[in-house]
Amino acid sequence: MNHLLNQVQEIVGPSGMLLGEDVASRSDSWPPMGGCQAKAIIRPASTEEVSKILKLCHAAGQVVVTHGGLTGLVGGARADKDDIVISLERMNHIEPVDTINRTVTLEAGVLLQRIQEAAEEAGLLFPLDLGARGSATIGGNISTNAGGNSVIRYGMIRDQLLGVEAVLADGTIISSLKGVIKNNTGYDLKQLFIGSEGTLGIVTRAVLRLRPLPRSRNTALVAIDDFDHLGRFLWDMDSALGGTLSAFEVMWNDFYRLIVGDGDNHGQPLQSSHGFYVLIESTGGHEEADKSRFEGALEKALEQELMVDAVIAQSKQQREDLWAIRDDIEGLVKGLFPPITFDISLGIAQMDDYVEEVRQQLTERWPDSRMVVFGHLGDGNIHLVLTIGSLEENEVHAVETIVYEALGRRQGVISAEHGIGLEKREYLKHSRSTEEIALMKTIKQALDPKGILNPGKIFVQHEDTSS
Ligand code: ZN
Repeated sequence: MNHLLNQVQEIVGPSGMLLGEDVASRSDSWPPMGGCQAKAIIRPASTEEVSKILKLCHAAGQVVVTHGGLTGLVGGARADKDDIVISLERMNHIEPVDTINRTVTLEAGVLLQRIQEAAEEAGLLFPLDLGARGSATIGGNISTNAGGNSVIRYGMIRDQLLGVEAVLADGTIISSLKGVIKNNTGYDLKQLFIGSEGTLGIVTRAVLRLRPLPRSRNTALVAIDDFDHLGRFLWDMDSALGGTLSAFEVMWNDFYRLIVGDGDNHGQPLQSSHGFYVLIESTGGHEEADKSRFEGALEKALEQELMVDAVIAQSKQQREDLWAIRDDIEGLVKGLFPPITFDISLGIAQMDDYVEEVRQQLTERWPDSRMVVFGHLGDGNIHLVLTIGSLEENEVHAVETIVYEALGRRQGVISAEHGIGLEKREYLKHSRSTEEIALMKTIKQALDPKGILNPGKIFVQHEDTSS
């Protein structure tokens, strides 16, 4: 063990450092493929320990990659063999929920699902929700500005975060944990750590905003045959539900057929011959009134022939069964292995045409390729998951070119939720101007002049421009 690791060991103790096989047996990507390359995984137990470790790493010019729940999809947590990983898994303490101010303060390693449960036990709601809730940590959610299934109502995590504590590259602790909603005292520094993928600091603690726990929840799975009806259905329901629309998840026919198929895994709540399936949910404050408003709005949509069929969940179990279809990422990856995933934003009006163009180009080049489409249509964000039977670099590159060029022609955005990491880095220029990227680099230089924090993720700080 080298001198630096010896010093780190003194800070975190024997259980705070993993080496050799313990490192290699871990993964740093999802779905898990191959071992972690780092020379050590450090597991600090407090902000002070993170600070001491970074101070040493800064002095030694040691590269550090931060790990949360490792559910990221763009290689943002990948570490090389000379890197050190700091995993926040031991920093998983939640303070009691503050029910008067409706906030909760916690450490970065807490699992998203545990926060949802703690809020609910206190009679409140933490609205951030995504399929990886059981493994994703709040620190990772913050570093990637996680979105998910309820953005349409509550926004991304940026909108749920009141304060953060973070450690800068040189070990300085920036503690900004005031749990107030309004704070106009100069630069909003917490924004630097949201969505910056561990390149500007390590988030160690956070204060989250909680919301009232809904007293009613109405959920339906709706079948729609025509894409034009989909957009109209969304806006009609949004206006009929008076601000209570809290999820509008759309699954293209290819997704539904892959996951539901002949009904072996999820039953078959609706026939699999329709063009689109919408999982729609409304949450509110009055059980009876909300139920009749929800059902009334659906009835009207049926009368207007915006939709062709629907099933309304009659129990908590039925609701969970409907969501299990949308959340069946395991089934998705199994059916599309090895998967290539995309997470794009574009105007709803252009989506249908976009998807068809991408599909056509893929089939032309790889006749056996398979692609499914689903996502948060209300936010203009869809996921494409596809397989061409290979992850060979040139082939993946060709797929990316097809997906992003068709998107660029429609002024879309290459990452709505997953971030840039390593995998989308080359394409950042399709979504950001030269001036925007230059400003990002100025900020990186100011906060991390030695470039030790997750270098090479999002962009390359000092690109060789001589050639
Ligand atoms: Zn998503």
